[in-house]
Amino acid sequence: MTQLKPLIAANWKMNGDKALIAEFSTAFTTDKVNGIDIIVCPPSIYLDEFSSQVASNNSAIAVGAQNLSDKESGAFTGEISAAMLQQVNCNFAIVGHSERRSLFGETPQFVASKYATALANNITPILCTGESEQQREDEQTFTVIAQDIDAVIERSGIESFKDGIIAYEPVWAIGTGKSATPEQAQDVHAFIRKHLAKHDEEVAAGVRILYGGSVNENNAAELFKQKDINGALVGGASLVVDKFMAICQNA
Ligand code: PEP
Repeated sequence: MTQLKPLIAANWKMNGDKALIAEFSTAFTTDKVNGIDIIVCPPSIYLDEFSSQVASNNSAIAVGAQNLSDKESGAFTGEISAAMLQQVNCNFAIVGHSERRSLFGETPQFVASKYATALANNITPILCTGESEQQREDEQTFTVIAQDIDAVIERSGIESFKDGIIAYEPVWAIGTGKSATPEQAQDVHAFIRKHLAKHDEEVAAGVRILYGGSVNENNAAELFKQKDINGALVGGASLVVDKFMAICQNA
């Protein structure tokens, strides 16, 4: 890893319940996990309660959303705005997770507008990007990733990555138990940093790039040794306190 402060983020997806929130709020005290940042993104219905519980339990956890609307307010049934997230002390939001892109049709431009809305409301966006298995076979990995990043640069400028986080999540590794090897991940992370450096070297050196895709307590340490891997975005293994704690402690 570079000198950037490691960050481990949890994406619970549509899993978890009030009992898991209570368990996480009390387990990740600052004495157990220090020197790293931890963000947990539960389903949005639990954000308010989770925020209150981490605040009253001396927890190291910061609370994040899995998604947000690109609009500020209005007639958008079922959506949640950045201002609403702010009101419940949720200061991070995942944007462009591959499930949102594939199941809900989110395009690079739409994701870039969510990224912009998050930043405009002082919410740190975690931009997910990654290739499918077919795209990797077709040697399109770097093209796909550059497209996602360029959409953000076009919309918000390179400086917007001073206040954002990137997560490289190969689609073929998400929820499959088949993580990218540390070398495969490092290759892509290095590409992302170089791509950003074409616009601004300082921004490129300062942005945290997380790896996501079947990270667990056994493979985390090797991934975290890679120069350009600054942490992880964890799905399945983030639903079990002991597993997620082990990943955090490896960072
Ligand atoms: C994810 O959904 O962001 C993810 C990385 O999932 P998993 O860790 O289960 O592969």
